[in-house]
Amino acid sequence: MAIRTVDVVIVGAGLSGLMAARLLQRRGLQVQVLEARSAVGGRMRSTTTHNGTVVDLGGQWGGATHHRLSALVEELGLERFPSHYSGDGVLCWQGARIQAPLADSRGDTLLFFDPAALNLAPGAWESTSRLQRAFLALVGRIDPQRPWRTADAERLDRTSVAAWAAAQTDEPLASLPLSWLCRVGGSGGFEPWEASILHLAWTQAVAPQAESPEAWLLRGGAGAVAQRLAEQLRAAAPESILLQAPVRLVRQDSRGVEVSADFGPAYRARAVVVAVPPQQRLGIRFEPALPPAHNALLQRSAMGAMTKILAVYERAFWRDEGLNGLGISDLHALELTADSSPPEGSPGILAGFASGERAARLMAMDAAQQQTLIRHELTTLWGPQAANPVELLVQPWTAEPWIGGAFTSFPAPGAWTSHGALAAGEHGGPGPAHQGRVVWAGTEASPRWPGYFEGALEAAELAAQAAADWCLTGDQTDRPG
Ligand SMILES: Cc1cc2nc3c(=O)[nH]c(=O)nc-3n(C[C@H](O)[C@H](O)[C@H](O)COP(=O)(O)OP(=O)(O)OC[C@H]3O[C@@H](n4cnc5c(N)ncnc54)[C@H](O)[C@@H]3O)c2cc1C
Repeated sequence: MAIRTVDVVIVGAGLSGLMAARLLQRRGLQVQVLEARSAVGGRMRSTTTHNGTVVDLGGQWGGATHHRLSALVEELGLERFPSHYSGDGVLCWQGARIQAPLADSRGDTLLFFDPAALNLAPGAWESTSRLQRAFLALVGRIDPQRPWRTADAERLDRTSVAAWAAAQTDEPLASLPLSWLCRVGGSGGFEPWEASILHLAWTQAVAPQAESPEAWLLRGGAGAVAQRLAEQLRAAAPESILLQAPVRLVRQDSRGVEVSADFGPAYRARAVVVAVPPQQRLGIRFEPALPPAHNALLQRSAMGAMTKILAVYERAFWRDEGLNGLGISDLHALELTADSSPPEGSPGILAGFASGERAARLMAMDAAQQQTLIRHELTTLWGPQAANPVELLVQPWTAEPWIGGAFTSFPAPGAWTSHGALAAGEHGGPGPAHQGRVVWAGTEASPRWPGYFEGALEAAELAAQAAADWCLTGDQTDRPG
């Protein structure tokens, strides 16, 4: 087999891999990106519907404190606009549909709502608020870089979110905000009995909902960021991205790494940046093998189960009725909807999310049943006009072979304190930063905002620096000619 020599191979052309490639290329290094799919972007993916509307099948929002993403969007010349939150939202809870204003500040709220406007049963808000305060107090004492060192970490890591909540109150409403964070909060995609309270508290310590991670959107879709990055990489080096090249083997020795995919040549490089969702590392043969604790942590971590739904209308008709499209519910499928339309409200786009068991139930239905259920629930939330979107797209992320789910990865209860601590090894962070010349990137490898675009960018910066160190200060014997 032909062998090509470059400075750094990057595995995965999601936002993190593309950004790592850009940073390395800008330092004058020769990079080769190998991507398993037939397109770049990974979880940052837009599509154009039949009527010409661009929608984000994957991530879409930038956050108020996502400074790396803001700077990149500006540099790429893309236009952003604030998410539409003016008007009332809708809470569907235990058979009731309640239309209510959102709270001015995120302090003492039920999810985004002003609790006083929700007409709750006596005592329900007190119990909910007490549980939220207890959770935030826990978040405040998490060690963000070493969650296993948090006081009482083992007990907290062996207690599921559901069990922790149930031990404090039997009020059903009280556990809604925590369940919501697990399922559709940005670190989510799991049920509250699938992960520990230590893990959930850690997600809020490193990626706080209080910092408004859904503050703004991109005109033309977030997928344009990945597309532009790829265009610029190719403009500088036309063959720098190879698609349909799933990497299967990463072999390192004292002189460098060798990387082979199912298709194309093998590559010899000074370092490799692996920017794939953590579980996908298990499909790559590493020589030498991954250390046991790293392997064990990967084996005990899953991607969230998530299906995204895009309902496209001619206009954002709900705005005419003083509604803002923010729907939170305990319905069968749609747990969350959000107005994702451009500022002018045309076309009207509602993004919907079904996660955890809801995603599994939805995916067990045939396409016609899915459409019927979703239309029914859109109508429950937003009225009769919602029944007939011009387009209705259903994107199941659990069905994506090279990604496996969304939004991100979560460890099983107990895994942080047993294997996570050991896997961190000398690097001390929540995940091992590198294994010799094999450098980990991808949003899950970031110390801040893991699971988000912002985390993908921070992980890319750290990984690019580590890979550049191998190239620029390491042994120079096998530099590309
Ligand atoms: C429905 C949904 C909604 C989301 N909402 C938001 C949001 O609003 N805001 C936000 O900030 N974030 C959001 N996210 C998360 C965000 O999209 C991700 O954090 C980010 O895109 C991850 O980028 P990444 O490069 O780390 O990983 P990925 O995008 O997963 O890229 C990894 C790439 O590696 C490739 N790959 C895997 N295995 C191999 C292999 N063996 N060889 C070669 N290539 C391989 C994959 O095909 C993929 O292209 C959302 C995600 C989803 C799916």
